[in-house]
Amino acid sequence: MGLIVQKFGGTSLADSSHIKRAAKRVAEVKRAGNQVIVVVSARGQTTDELYALAYEITDNPSSRELDMLVSTGEQVSACLLTMALHAMGEEASAFTAGQIGILTDSRHTKAKIMRIDPQRLGQELEQGSIPVVAGFQGVDEQDNITTLGRGGSDTTAVALAAVFKADICEIYTDVEGVYTSDPRIVAEARKLSVLSYDEMLELASSGASVLQHRAVEFAKKYNVPVMVRSSFSDFPGTIISEEVRTMEDVVVRGAAVEKNEAKITIRGVPDRPGIAARILGSVAEQDLNIDMIVQNISAEGLTDVTLTVARSDLKEAIEVFEKLKKEIGARGVESDEHIAKISVVGVGMRTHSGVATKMFQALAEAGINIQMISTSEIKISCVIDEKSADEALRVVHKAFELEKAATK
Ligand code: ASP
Ligand code: MG
Repeated sequence: MGLIVQKFGGTSLADSSHIKRAAKRVAEVKRAGNQVIVVVSARGQTTDELYALAYEITDNPSSRELDMLVSTGEQVSACLLTMALHAMGEEASAFTAGQIGILTDSRHTKAKIMRIDPQRLGQELEQGSIPVVAGFQGVDEQDNITTLGRGGSDTTAVALAAVFKADICEIYTDVEGVYTSDPRIVAEARKLSVLSYDEMLELASSGASVLQHRAVEFAKKYNVPVMVRSSFSDFPGTIISEEVRTMEDVVVRGAAVEKNEAKITIRGVPDRPGIAARILGSVAEQDLNIDMIVQNISAEGLTDVTLTVARSDLKEAIEVFEKLKKEIGARGVESDEHIAKISVVGVGMRTHSGVATKMFQALAEAGINIQMISTSEIKISCVIDEKSADEALRVVHKAFELEKAATK
């Protein structure tokens, strides 16, 4: 007998027939002799609609009420799925996060889970019942309802899998798994059978959004094997797990493109100790999320510093830089939001060389200019013109023959 956490996303619960189908999957696993914990997201576009409604009422909805509002979507799903299980003769109960003791901090709309009380869910499991938990939500110490950030049901599922030491956390969605690249852009993209937590984290921060980032961090920390799979087919999905030696045989696991960043440069900065700290300090103070940082070699005592930031943060970043320019006597501030970041990721890079050269060559042959480069142990990223983004992804996918590497 195993313990399996099954999480169903919004598209898998869109209407009553989908809900019944999800219930059938749950029942099958239960009838095969396993214990099951189910986690659900809101149906279809429910969360977006609830947010939109709030902003129709006011430009500045209170975050406490916003969380309480949007968390209802998951509650609806949990009740309906539980009823579907009852109709199939299964014992099941729906739960809110408060009812099963998912305690978070009080940072509304982006709360972090602090503790989960295993008692109530443990009882349910022991009695042979199937708990169906509303994902995405928690309660803080004052019993206020919180939410875990968009896509947070993934994190609920992985957290429960960690607490109950589940054999696997299955994430049911509308794609077959994690792909070597975005199949909407690269026709040759293939479903991966396995990848490591670190590869998933790097791919996710490079623009491949399949799972909430925090869910993967959680899975890594507690070593929870996660399978991403489709609720519309019976194909096995992609396993995301701890790194094993053989994973290094594949040099590049996947390629991704991020189109939501912008570049900002401060020119003619006096080149002296403490300047980089000063620049980054001002950016951090505003809570702006920076990705790449490049400082040029200086000429005549002056240098340039370029950062990439989330495109939605560019306006604020420009304000910060303009202020800094005056304070430190820099020459100018320039920005460009028509950029894209293309990345290749693979734990095999640790033991293989020549990856960067191959990537740069592939881009050069396609006439694509590289504006910035950054690397980590298992990732190489290049900033390029937004117009070339899709083509860059295709040529890089081809250069590394990712369509062949997928099943290794
Ligand atoms: N319903 C929430 C959202 O749309 C949480 C989730 O789907 O995981 O972000
Ligand atoms: Mg989701």
